[in-house]
Amino acid sequence: MPAQTGVIDSFLGVFQPKAGRADLFLFFRAVNNDLIDTYQLKSLDGLAEARLEKIGITQRKEKSSRRAGTQNKAKLYLTLKKHIQHQEKKNSSDVSGEEMPGYHIDNFSMRKPYDRVIRCLGFRFNFSVFDSSACPPISDNAKGRLPGVTPWYEGMNTPGLFVLGTAAHSRDYRSSAGGFVHGFRYTVRAVHRVLEQRYHSNLWPSTKLLTTQLQSWILKRLSEASGPYQMFQVLGDVILLRGSHCEYVEEFTLQALPQFSSVSGHEVSEHGLIVLVMQYGNNKIDFLGRSRAETDWTKAWKSNFLHPVLYYYDTLPTEEDMRLRPTGWPLPRPKAMHHMVEDFLAEWDTPISHIQPLRRFLEHCVQTDLRAFYAESCFRSSLTHRKPPLFCQQGYLKRQGVAHNTQLWQQVHGAGLMPTEQETGKTSGSDPAFPNYLAQAGASVSSGLKLDF
Ligand SMILES: Cc1cc2nc3c(=O)[nH]c(=O)nc-3n(C[C@H](O)[C@H](O)[C@H](O)COP(=O)(O)OP(=O)(O)OC[C@H]3O[C@@H](n4cnc5c(N)ncnc54)[C@H](O)[C@@H]3O)c2cc1C
Repeated sequence: MPAQTGVIDSFLGVFQPKAGRADLFLFFRAVNNDLIDTYQLKSLDGLAEARLEKIGITQRKEKSSRRAGTQNKAKLYLTLKKHIQHQEKKNSSDVSGEEMPGYHIDNFSMRKPYDRVIRCLGFRFNFSVFDSSACPPISDNAKGRLPGVTPWYEGMNTPGLFVLGTAAHSRDYRSSAGGFVHGFRYTVRAVHRVLEQRYHSNLWPSTKLLTTQLQSWILKRLSEASGPYQMFQVLGDVILLRGSHCEYVEEFTLQALPQFSSVSGHEVSEHGLIVLVMQYGNNKIDFLGRSRAETDWTKAWKSNFLHPVLYYYDTLPTEEDMRLRPTGWPLPRPKAMHHMVEDFLAEWDTPISHIQPLRRFLEHCVQTDLRAFYAESCFRSSLTHRKPPLFCQQGYLKRQGVAHNTQLWQQVHGAGLMPTEQETGKTSGSDPAFPNYLAQAGASVSSGLKLDF
């Protein structure tokens, strides 16, 4: 039988000696569905479900006759520790026949020998490289396996010493992807930005946006950003509100939010900030059960799978706020919060379920109308209102903007995004496929405007 690798979660994997060579694997990680197939369907592999403390791997010399003469070849056996006599005095793995389980139970499933044992039981961080004066403490968070680090990955009590890679996984142990290169490559980049700011006074890179562009920028990030998606609940985008414009800071380490200004070099204004986080629901559910996913945007907060959540704060949360945040939350309770309903395609760009509720939330945070308008509407509004909508102020009144034309109008109607006059006139909202709020929102169709930068 060719050597096979099996990956078993919390099981001891045993590759059965069907013919020829047999390998015994002890592999504690991830999932491998193939193993179930080769175990239960094809009888090639097996699973022994026992705690490691209860088993022992022993070696016995067996006589095998060959033409050249009799040879003593050592074979490996799996036995139960309870059968091994005088365990404490034993300094060799050799055992007598009586110490083998087969002596006590003749059909013991692991009674045949194995040629090799591969140990794959994980690792503990080796602290011996550090002098005691520079040794980071052991984190409580990862069963004592890893060093304790700050939210910006500096060893706790060891300023200037940073821990990166798998070794930094204590911050998100079993809750995000920091144990794997597909996740920690983004936190490594975040630490690079921390160092740039601290040692070279280079601000975290940011993008200055008009507030009317914010929604489109968020939608663009949601469809492209890898850091918050992979390092979910650990990295998030911070949007610094500044009235008519905002500063967009990407992939900040969320747990460092109370120290945002010193770590990033950016100040928070009296307008506050929004943090965009990708997160899972906190409910314990059957992830293959019938009602596992939420599709109704009005119940977006019940989403179970990865989905965007926006936190609005009028001031930076304090360290105490962070410490006392609700269990399972990546950030403290904000002043306002918005969940964008989970999406099977991981595309948060549909007008009704995603974009419009997002716009309403942003409008609530910045206390202004964020709809987009055609030039004609801006013209009318400029004549009839003291202060036309922000979009008109930042576009039409600066000699920019899109003129309304018949072709555009037809496209919008053709796509079914706007109500016909009859629909708005009659019992608005009676058609469940076209709810009330959309008709009232009027220009919502253009709120997902694509921007050219
Ligand atoms: C089987 C397997 C499959 C995986 N699949 C994936 C995957 O699909 N996607 C994914 O993102 N991640 C995957 N991972 C995880 C990923 O490989 C690791 O997270 C990543 O390699 C860790 O990188 P690192 O630089 O932190 O540590 P390592 O890659 O372990 O690098 C540490 C280095 O330090 C060296 N070293 C250790 N001690 C000393 C010392 N005292 N002196 C000098 N050098 C020393 C080691 O030799 C090693 O080269 C997988 C891991 C395994 C084991």
